[in-house]
Amino acid sequence: MSTASSFVLLVLAAATGVSAAPEYAAGPSCKAYPGTPSWPKADAWNTLNRTLGGQLIQPTVLPGGVCHKGQPNYDEAQCATVAQEWTTSEFHLASPISVMSNEFTNYTCLPDPNTPCSPAGYPAYVVNVTTAEHVKAGIDFARMNNVRLNVKSSGHDFIGRSNAPGTLSLWTHHLSSITYHPDEFKLNSGCVLKGNYATVGSGAIMWDIYVALDKYKQTVVGGGSKTVSAGGYITGGGHSILSPKYGLAADQVVEMEVVTPDGKIQKVNQDQNPDLFWALRGGGGSTFGVITTFTVKTVPTPKMDIVNFLAFTVPGVPFLGDLMGTVAAQTPFLMNGGLSGYNFAYRNFSNPAPGTGLPDFLAGFEGRSTMRRVSTIGPGMEVKFLRIGGLATGFPY
Ligand SMILES: Cc1cc2nc3c(=O)[nH]c(=O)nc-3n(C[C@H](O)[C@H](O)[C@H](O)COP(=O)(O)OP(=O)(O)OC[C@H]3O[C@@H](n4cnc5c(N)ncnc54)[C@H](O)[C@@H]3O)c2cc1C
Repeated sequence: MSTASSFVLLVLAAATGVSAAPEYAAGPSCKAYPGTPSWPKADAWNTLNRTLGGQLIQPTVLPGGVCHKGQPNYDEAQCATVAQEWTTSEFHLASPISVMSNEFTNYTCLPDPNTPCSPAGYPAYVVNVTTAEHVKAGIDFARMNNVRLNVKSSGHDFIGRSNAPGTLSLWTHHLSSITYHPDEFKLNSGCVLKGNYATVGSGAIMWDIYVALDKYKQTVVGGGSKTVSAGGYITGGGHSILSPKYGLAADQVVEMEVVTPDGKIQKVNQDQNPDLFWALRGGGGSTFGVITTFTVKTVPTPKMDIVNFLAFTVPGVPFLGDLMGTVAAQTPFLMNGGLSGYNFAYRNFSNPAPGTGLPDFLAGFEGRSTMRRVSTIGPGMEVKFLRIGGLATGFPY
């Protein structure tokens, strides 16, 4: 609709008192919830399990249950171990229901005997997905039975989108295949793209992708955490230490297999469903469909050096803001020199390289970065690094 016609419509609505509220399709306003009359009966779940070839899990054993008397997996000896592992991403990655941030399960079963434990914060059923057909069966069941759907891959999501209580959850962790296509890749539309590509399952984690491609001296624009999976990372855009050179991870995708809410398993690429292809590359996880595979461009594994980036002064100085601004303004220059990574700005942090005569606390930028081989640093770069203002310094070592 053009701007002009939108304007006319708004004026008419105001003049006649007509509400511009959208119309919603008729149907139940609330999803079915466990324990309520509309929740599917056991027979329906059994039928779904048969369709899935036995891949349906009812998560009666909770990850933190080892610490709670009365839970089926209660094991006092194991409690301390689980409490320790709870802080690792590997623990949550391996579980069909566990997620990294406790607030998104509403703290309902922590590995702490002094807190309450119940399944109330977790999905009611989980499909242990290994094929696109499993995803389709789960989506179809949820749609036809008005059950809320959840998608969990690694469970890393910072805003809790991979857990929802009382749902049917699709656990995509085992969609982890990785196939390298040297020299060219043929899209489902028939178009042949020249270059090197890899098709990765949406549950594949960064570490496994890096290791698999390293055999071919290739890598991908990927995330910094070993256990972040392709599913949420790429659909969220995906920033990387290689992004200053190649762009976001979503920019590298040439094709996806996706199961849409109507239960259709389809390939999307530049030629087929281009709108959906565009939306899935950055539109966020669990939005337009459940992706089973991504085909992405690969890039030659770069030679890199690790740099501990510091640009600092002492806490409390009046020119801290100016220092931050001056250093931040160097970013394009540093990127052109091959530096990329993650730096954090602090008012006060412990000196990571203490020594005689040096302050215990610093203020400014600190972070780990990578740099293409130091020999590629442009002329003058070291000088800019060394004295940007006050005590500020940044040095590769
Ligand atoms: C330690 C750590 C380091 C990180 N480093 C980086 C980084 O370097 N760069 C960066 O860009 N981000 C980074 N992130 C953020 C990360 O990309 C997001 O948290 C992302 O959402 C995680 O995706 P996931 O699939 O691993 O996690 P999940 O929590 O399982 O999923 C995240 C979201 O994606 C959805 N989803 C997962 N799989 C699919 C699928 N197949 N189809 C449809 N929806 C799906 C889920 O429903 C959920 O909404 C980091 C996060 C952590 C915890």
